[in-house]
Amino acid sequence: VKTNGRNGYAFFERGMEKRMKKRRNMEALLRQARHDQAFELHFQPLFDQKSRALIAFETLVRMRDEKGEFVPPDVFIPVAEDMGMMEELGEFILREATKTAMNWPDQVGLAVNLSPKQFESGKLLSIVSSALVRSGLKPERLELEITESLLMSNSQRNLRQLELLKEIGVSIAMDDFGTGYSSLGYLWKFPFDKIKIDKSFLGGMENVDEKANQIVSTIIALGHTLEMCVTAEGVETEAQAEFLNAHKCDQLQGFLLGRPMPKEEIDRFILEGKNKKAE
Ligand code: C2E
Ligand code: CA
Ligand code: CA
Ligand code: CA
Repeated sequence: VKTNGRNGYAFFERGMEKRMKKRRNMEALLRQARHDQAFELHFQPLFDQKSRALIAFETLVRMRDEKGEFVPPDVFIPVAEDMGMMEELGEFILREATKTAMNWPDQVGLAVNLSPKQFESGKLLSIVSSALVRSGLKPERLELEITESLLMSNSQRNLRQLELLKEIGVSIAMDDFGTGYSSLGYLWKFPFDKIKIDKSFLGGMENVDEKANQIVSTIIALGHTLEMCVTAEGVETEAQAEFLNAHKCDQLQGFLLGRPMPKEEIDRFILEGKNKKAE
């Protein structure tokens, strides 16, 4: 470290400059997308495990870069959160998604992911209510997905907002279950309607990873003990689906059954039960 300290420092500086440049680019893309109203919504189907009937679609936001290629939301959402854009973007997503869901059959639900930033101003309840009223969507058709990080800070205040949302008839799902910490404590404190097992636990199944399999079956049993619906995300293979069937996981979601798609493809998907691209 001592001998090439200077070089090491220069290297560090270049790395940091690169990261800062990337970051500024991302911020510019986000501001442009907001200005152009260019955020798009895709929807991924969720199915009943037993009947394989379509239960709902989950809303997944999309943004394109200057070449027209998608930037992963895992990358741009944290930046939008830091920029203080997420409450506004979240409101747009809720409005558009509820409006879109009004074109679907009544029994098909809508899931929307929420950022912890959408809980900060205390306006979430009124934003959700207004999206429901404007669109005419019944609250019973809407499910909001939150992650454990929401309950890490301000947990009393955030739990209270979740309670109020449940009171108007919306259901609440715990997303990415098992990836945060204190999972159990929070599950115990709040009557979630659903837990979604994080897709990272499913990865191991193909290689018959005994530990991952046991974690999955344990989460399913735990969810059922707490009388919650259990969904597995990231189902890619028949082997995974079979394992989940055997352990009575309630709902399945993943590329095996349906990829995220723009709203224009949904009618056809509902009629034919398959994605265009998968043909
Ligand atoms: P998430 O909520 O856990 O969403 C599931 C992610 O897994 C989606 O990635 C989806 O496309 C992907 N996925 C679905 N099935 C499979 C599969 O079989 N295999 C694999 N490998 N992946 C699968 P996506 O759309 O890139 O979103 C990533 C994350 O970004 C989401 O994770 C969520 O945390 C966040 N996100 C996306 N849309 C929104 C949004 O509208 N609002 C908020 N707050 N966050 C969002
Ligand atoms: Ca989700
Ligand atoms: Ca998830
Ligand atoms: Ca995730």
